[in-house]
Amino acid sequence: MAELSQRKNERNLDDLIDFMEKKPSNFGGLIHSAANSKPRRSFAPLIPKNETSIKKFTLSQKMKVAPRMARVMKGMWKGKRYYSKRVTSKQTKAPMEGFEEIKQFAQKLGAIDVKFIKDLPSKQVFKGKSIPHKNAIVFTVEMDNEKIQTAPSFECFAEVAKGYGDLAVISNKVCDFIRKKGFSAYPSTAMGGQMDYVAIGELAGLGAIGYHGLLITPDAGSRVRISTIYTNIDTFPVETENPHLWVREFCSYCRKCVRSCPVQAINNEPQVNENGDMQCIDYKTCVKYFSANYGCAICIKACPFSTAGYHKIQKGYLKKKTVKESNNS
Ligand code: SF4
Ligand code: SF4
Repeated sequence: MAELSQRKNERNLDDLIDFMEKKPSNFGGLIHSAANSKPRRSFAPLIPKNETSIKKFTLSQKMKVAPRMARVMKGMWKGKRYYSKRVTSKQTKAPMEGFEEIKQFAQKLGAIDVKFIKDLPSKQVFKGKSIPHKNAIVFTVEMDNEKIQTAPSFECFAEVAKGYGDLAVISNKVCDFIRKKGFSAYPSTAMGGQMDYVAIGELAGLGAIGYHGLLITPDAGSRVRISTIYTNIDTFPVETENPHLWVREFCSYCRKCVRSCPVQAINNEPQVNENGDMQCIDYKTCVKYFSANYGCAICIKACPFSTAGYHKIQKGYLKKKTVKESNNS
């Protein structure tokens, strides 16, 4: 930690995340971002620092959230060490049942769903970032519904911090598990990250991106955080079709998040940006409110998938669709 404390001119969380992700220049073999990659969104608020919620925490709030933030930072610090030297394993063929073992291990640690993705698109690597392997284990952790329903609040903020800590701990432990089996693996950073986790989550088949720009999953709706472990294993099963994409059609009738956003930061309909990606929110508008209001999360709270349950909504939606189609025919 001496390296960290010696660091001069610490400015914000972005600096800290960049520091945690800094790879040795001689690491070699990294997969870099593409020419049309987007930059990672900044955590630096667009409002004066003394107006952020964090600056206004009471002493008891600070004492409650400090261990959670320390867990995130400790996990990310440990994660940085996996990059201190290249894993030399050339073995890439793991038995199929190896994935189930990893999945069960991650779920025992608190992951709710786990998928494997091959050939990660370099376009989804953030501009100027790089990843050690093009294949990854992608997983989600759940955030408690009762806490999310208090958004925007300190309780909700603390729950999000817990989620980041869970991601960091699980990533590191799964990484150890894979390395012990003789394969190469590297954790990603719980906060920030080298890739767009939401986009990767959809590509891996964990869920579908809703109009609020977040992943909607069958197990916990929008109340998830996502992370990845990069690996050289290339034999695990991949989802060839994403069965959750119907969600976007549901969104086009729902738009509850659009109406609930206090600063109208969510597009009435997602736009396609210059990189061909789905652009759901006006980030600059969102981040101002987000920073001043405990990380907001009103759109997560408002999303029916966060409370009603994915399968119940799907059943009702399909029923209505069938009736509508038969009336039209
Ligand atoms: S986090 Fe809050 S401000 Fe940002 S899009 Fe969601 S509801 Fe709007
Ligand atoms: S609130 Fe409605 S429109 Fe928004 S993401 Fe959730 S389901 Fe989609």
